[in-house]
Amino acid sequence: MTDLDEDLRIALAAFAARPRVLVALDFDGTLAPFVTDPLKARALPGGLEALRAAAALTGVTTALASGRDLATLAALTGIGPDDGITLIGSHGAQISGGSQAGPEPAAGTPLLDDAAAARLATVRDELEAIRTRYPAVRLELKPSAVVIHTRGVEPAVAAAATQAAHEVGERLTGVHVMPGKEVVELTVLEADKGSALLALARESGSDATLYVGDDVTDERAFAALDPLSGDLPIKVGDGNTVAAQRIANPESVVELLNLFVESRRLSG
Ligand SMILES: [Mg+2]
Repeated sequence: MTDLDEDLRIALAAFAARPRVLVALDFDGTLAPFVTDPLKARALPGGLEALRAAAALTGVTTALASGRDLATLAALTGIGPDDGITLIGSHGAQISGGSQAGPEPAAGTPLLDDAAAARLATVRDELEAIRTRYPAVRLELKPSAVVIHTRGVEPAVAAAATQAAHEVGERLTGVHVMPGKEVVELTVLEADKGSALLALARESGSDATLYVGDDVTDERAFAALDPLSGDLPIKVGDGNTVAAQRIANPESVVELLNLFVESRRLSG
């Protein structure tokens, strides 16, 4: 228990003492270290256990908010409907989970209307063409987006493919570019983690929200929070951020979760 600085420990103790709180985390790069094959990503040992322990506490709503689609997020974490942890997928376009006050799983509801489905098909064709030119890049097909992955790819090739993907996103109407760490996502739905978190905080009647994330897309979530009202936005690792607090790595995230559970038990 040495990684978290004193300022963060004080803020966390104050947060843990609030009557009703929302504890939400990004997944990749936050609870799970980055790996070359995105389907091999797993939470650090103890991470999901700590999140489950938090979910079991009175007055605590928990969520994972990821760019992954809901089905993949559930498969990678093993979190099911009975676990009491809300899953927010596709950057907020999909919400499921087990919070009592939360919405029903979105299964069966079509995510895309016909126009959006047509846009997605166009995006897929355009990015397939980029992969034909740069075979080292990988594509990930999601229900509302296509992601081009350049992790482990030679830098010049990665840069060219990334630029080509940005150009596709800028050229197509109704397609949004979401840059991330060695990924570019082209999504046909406008969604952001900030709006999804605010909705869940409202639904669960939470007095304050803690959110931890490591990437560009997490900045929308940080910006939606208000530290002056007791919210606790926390950025993992280096890089510019609007978050008020910062921690080093996924190991520190597990430590933070455990410290939250401990503080909450003491204050409750
Ligand atoms: Mg991340």
